[in-house]
Amino acid sequence: MTKPIFIAGQWKQGGGPVRATYFPADGSLNAEIATASAEDVEEAVQAAERAWREPQWRNRMPHERAAVLYRVADLISQRVDELASMQTRDNGKPLAETRGLVMSAAATARYFAAACETLDEQLPAQRSSEFMTLSVHEPLGVIAAITPWNSPIASEMQKIAPALAAGNAVIVKPADATPLAALALAELFEEAGLPKGLLSVLPGRGSVVGEALAAHPLVRKISFTGGTGTGRHLAHVAAEKLIPTSLELGGKSPTIVFEDADIELAARGVVYGIFSSSGQACIAGSRLFVHAKVYDRFMGRLLELTANLRVGHPEEPGTHMGPLISEAHLASVAGFVDQARAEGGEILCGGTRLAEGHMAQGSYYPPTIIAGLDNGASVCQQEIFGPVLVVLKFDDEADLLARANNSVFGLAAGIWSEDFRRAWRIGRQLEAGTIWINTYKKFSISAPFGGFKESGLGREKGRLGVLEYMQQKSVYLGLSDTPNPWAE
Ligand code: NAD
Repeated sequence: MTKPIFIAGQWKQGGGPVRATYFPADGSLNAEIATASAEDVEEAVQAAERAWREPQWRNRMPHERAAVLYRVADLISQRVDELASMQTRDNGKPLAETRGLVMSAAATARYFAAACETLDEQLPAQRSSEFMTLSVHEPLGVIAAITPWNSPIASEMQKIAPALAAGNAVIVKPADATPLAALALAELFEEAGLPKGLLSVLPGRGSVVGEALAAHPLVRKISFTGGTGTGRHLAHVAAEKLIPTSLELGGKSPTIVFEDADIELAARGVVYGIFSSSGQACIAGSRLFVHAKVYDRFMGRLLELTANLRVGHPEEPGTHMGPLISEAHLASVAGFVDQARAEGGEILCGGTRLAEGHMAQGSYYPPTIIAGLDNGASVCQQEIFGPVLVVLKFDDEADLLARANNSVFGLAAGIWSEDFRRAWRIGRQLEAGTIWINTYKKFSISAPFGGFKESGLGREKGRLGVLEYMQQKSVYLGLSDTPNPWAE
């Protein structure tokens, strides 16, 4: 049966073509999903515009608005296994990972519910006895939330929760390959009693549904997570309309292992940083710099740990790496590795797709490590979004910093060193929105997240993340009984 889409509180067969999604582990049909048309976008936006202005939502006390998010968090927590399994079938990530993403979605809903209840307004310093000034925040209106396929439920909640907490309506355009998580969230918000129209979920092609949504005159913010090229295009769309955007984009994050690093800690952190999610993570630590003094020792351990990773069926317990999202994506990853070979790179492990036994049916690519290239090589400069690590050697701190920062991206970076003064000094000079010292790919909902340079604009998460979905207003309150002397 075709899965309907969610427009303004109604489950409907959208006007776009029905699309199929496939289980990346064996290519079998996963679901058939209705998609939206431009007319559906129009209907959802008009309903959203009415809904956020409705006094029953606008004037609802913050703790009552928060209650909906708390209820959704509880509903998610009751269905972790079901939601994780659905997501594993959608994008092929191992169950342990998708469970983590589901729990993170529940935590995000709770966090922004609490932020909503406890948000303070400001009383700016008073400069006159004639009037007092207050600063308040208002919702923006209708928000377009456009998300990628790699961590659906978590990235969607990261936009829906603060946007609703701030009093807006949200229309989600999930990735073509993974619309099921967003549709499941719509069901849970409906069950939690969110008034109709405040949330719509419109699956469909980015170039049709995403484009129509972003360009709609009533959409007052585009909150986008995805590739840098799409983000740049959406920034142009937003510039035409003079509306804010938040853009969470791609990365090519450097990880640095100093000569005084705890080798075991660092090697395990590096393996996790690049190969978890099969490298399909914006913050994957895909460019590794190792100090010449420990290069051989560190690389020996890194290759050992990599050889022990279990690549396999994502529903099997103990699998470290599942398949890549699709055959097309596998071809792109393999193309980068071929290019590295052509540029003189030495493939230390991996480098050829896996096709033994059940893997012949899926899009499996092994953890791959490439050495012998310089930082200017294509695989050091372009985002591969797959299980491919490039290794570079260094021995001078200034040269290391120049090379690590020589990238159009600036999403994240890792530093492994027992010298905290040095780690701090390097961390402050690295051009990246997130720095991990002696850890990697760890997240807290209370720490703002976003990119430097072409990795993005704006920040998500953090207590003040809710303000990204609001606009500030100053209110002047006259205190004087004396009429203004300017005109009599
Ligand atoms: P993508 O840019 O191709 O697609 C992302 C979303 O944008 C999808 O929903 C897609 O349908 C939509 N889209 C495409 N063209 C559009 C258009 N013209 N108008 C409106 N919407 C459009 O990215 P992807 O391949 O789905 O995801 C992988 C990328 O996402 C990687 O570059 C990765 O680094 C990035 N990413 C970034 C973060 C972060 O937080 N910085 C997190 C996850 C993924």
